[in-house]
Amino acid sequence: MVIIGGGPAGNSCATTAARLGADVVLVERDTIGGAAHLWDCIPSKAMIAAGNARSFVQRSMRMGLSEVATDVDLELLRDRLLTLEHRLESQIRSLLASQQVQFAHGTGTMLDAHTVRASTADGDIDFEADVIVLATGSRPRVDDWAEVDGVRVLTTRDAYPPPEMPEHLVVIGSGVTGVEFVHMFESMGSEVTLVVSRQQVLPAKDPEVAAALEEDFLRRGVHLLKGARAVGIGNDGEEVTVSCDDGRVVTGSHALLAIGSAPNSENLGLDKAGVRSEGGYVPVDVNLRSNVSHIYAAGDLSGRLPLSSVASIQGQKIAEHALGALSVSRRRAIDYDKAASAIFTEPEIADVGLAEADAFAEGRKVRVTKVPFASSAKAQINDDPRGFVKIVSDPATGVVLGGSIVGRHAAELISVLAVAVSNGLTVADIHESALVHPTLAEALREAAE
Ligand SMILES: Cc1cc2nc3c(=O)[nH]c(=O)nc-3n(C[C@H](O)[C@H](O)[C@H](O)COP(=O)(O)OP(=O)(O)OC[C@H]3O[C@@H](n4cnc5c(N)ncnc54)[C@H](O)[C@@H]3O)c2cc1C
Repeated sequence: MVIIGGGPAGNSCATTAARLGADVVLVERDTIGGAAHLWDCIPSKAMIAAGNARSFVQRSMRMGLSEVATDVDLELLRDRLLTLEHRLESQIRSLLASQQVQFAHGTGTMLDAHTVRASTADGDIDFEADVIVLATGSRPRVDDWAEVDGVRVLTTRDAYPPPEMPEHLVVIGSGVTGVEFVHMFESMGSEVTLVVSRQQVLPAKDPEVAAALEEDFLRRGVHLLKGARAVGIGNDGEEVTVSCDDGRVVTGSHALLAIGSAPNSENLGLDKAGVRSEGGYVPVDVNLRSNVSHIYAAGDLSGRLPLSSVASIQGQKIAEHALGALSVSRRRAIDYDKAASAIFTEPEIADVGLAEADAFAEGRKVRVTKVPFASSAKAQINDDPRGFVKIVSDPATGVVLGGSIVGRHAAELISVLAVAVSNGLTVADIHESALVHPTLAEALREAAE
């Protein structure tokens, strides 16, 4: 098996396939761990953790602690991100080495449907493969109207941390990435304006959940420019000017683009191998095979749910399928509708399965129970009563169909509902579980009641 791309999809595929007995070569042009470790999940959450620590220290003065300095030191922050990156990379490297996965540090290209060339610093190496896995991920989308200079006009990849802390950051795009960067920089002390192309931030989310985040942003002084689509960015080296399609203009010290992603599929040799693509993504069947049956695609390149967690599961499923590791009856296709996801703002937002608004739009009969954290003893101990737990269930059977959580540790708490949704558990199953007291998770039991 030859895998191109060493992100979560490629790595999990490599280790599973090697464990199942395959000879595996992993071709990676950059760092093992992929964009997930270098640019996306890890550094963004580490920056958010720094901002959250700062807000926490500021809040703790209300809990009886004396005043401490909360200035952000960009050098310290940069060092921490590098340390994290190196530590995680070396963990994955050792895991791959322990499974005898051969690593080729170079750019991978398919020469035909069975040959992958790795162009390395020491020259080209050609590998013959029975199975090829394409796991090359994606990168931030940049449109023609935005000239990114990495100093004043940034993509997410220029922000870990940026050369200087923005005095006033204009974030363009109000999806998951956009709102996380709003939270990240606001909590580190920047003034932030968010350009929202629709009337709701997080347009794909449950309106009640989005409203809770908007309310919090407004309370923190974030400026929301709604119904405005950015069409141009001026940059004189001191100031940026973002122009919108309705004539409105917003000025800041920096601008950050968070308008989506583009697949890494150029020069991958898709044509030479006869692999079909759509808009640069590689469409796959239920077993993650492309139109060429021994060439699979996983992770962001597959155009399915772009999450690191999903990419890892896809990689594992490919290895099991390609190596015939599971009998047909034991194979479980990935149900993307049941994947949990989270937004690491404060309060955190997490959801899984069917959303109340979607059930309503489909005219589906559901039972919705909602419990605010304000009534939780732990939330009061934490001095943070924001948010709620919402469970969507089938009124006839009690089976949990979905849920949303807004509040502290929502990304951890949603796991309870994710296990329930994936395994057909009922609200009674949750209610009858003895959870720890005092914890925020008790609100889930209460909602299940
Ligand atoms: C700002 C941001 C934050 C995010 N936060 C989260 C989060 O908190 N949780 C979550 O689940 N998801 C998060 N995501 C999404 C997540 O990062 C992606 O879904 C995930 O990285 C996809 O994994 P992958 O294996 O497909 O690709 P990647 O992680 O992108 O890895 C692909 C690898 O392929 C390599 N490559 C590309 N082309 C070639 C080639 N021709 N030859 C050799 N190597 C090649 C690249 O160098 C890269 O290392 C975030 C995304 C962004 C943008």
